[in-house]
Amino acid sequence: MGDLSIQNLVVEYTSGTDAVRPIDGFNLDVAAGSLVILLGPSGCGKTTLLSCLGGILRPSAGAIKFGDVGVTSLDARGLSTYRRDTVGIVFQAFNLVPSLTALENVMVPMRSARISRRAAFKRAEQLLSRVGLQDRMSHRPGDLSGGQQQRVAVARAIALDPPLVLADEPTAHLDFIQVEEVLRLIRELASGDRMVVVATHDSRI
Ligand code: ADP
Repeated sequence: MGDLSIQNLVVEYTSGTDAVRPIDGFNLDVAAGSLVILLGPSGCGKTTLLSCLGGILRPSAGAIKFGDVGVTSLDARGLSTYRRDTVGIVFQAFNLVPSLTALENVMVPMRSARISRRAAFKRAEQLLSRVGLQDRMSHRPGDLSGGQQQRVAVARAIALDPPLVLADEPTAHLDFIQVEEVLRLIRELASGDRMVVVATHDSRI
């Protein structure tokens, strides 16, 4: 499962009489388990493409297929299921809940998916250990470094074991050493069962 095919993708934004077409006839075929780096300057359409892959934005034309799911053919309900079951997202600004501990942040998607508190707690502990934060589980985001916060966000993104992980400028707010840590982690996520797509203008990646 998990091959990605994008065909003749077009996204046009219109406001009043102005139209912008950041994606205009884009094609891409990638095998399951790949790590895809979308490298380009700010404004070239990376977030737009990730939004289409994540089922957040409906393109103006073209087709996206992930595994056997025709993403661009899904209705609103199908898209909502696709977002929940297939996609994990890592954001530039981490987007952790400040009042929750690292452990509780990682539990959020699992509790939303009605996984029991006990099972979610256990899996969140395993995930935080995997990203090297076993001794920071009860810290709140404000007491963690940027790199540590992003590692919590990565653990949260894979909490439901999604076959597609999207990362939008995941290193934008990190210093050099933290960039290395987070990149190593993100690279490790791509495997036979999981594709990772990273959008960045950071040529250090
Ligand atoms: P990147 O992620 O590479 O910085 P974006 O996908 O955010 O690029 O934006 C691509 C282009 O589309 C930019 O010119 C941006 O101004 C424009 N754009 C993005 N979102 C919208 C929107 N909701 N409405 C109108 N224009 C948009």
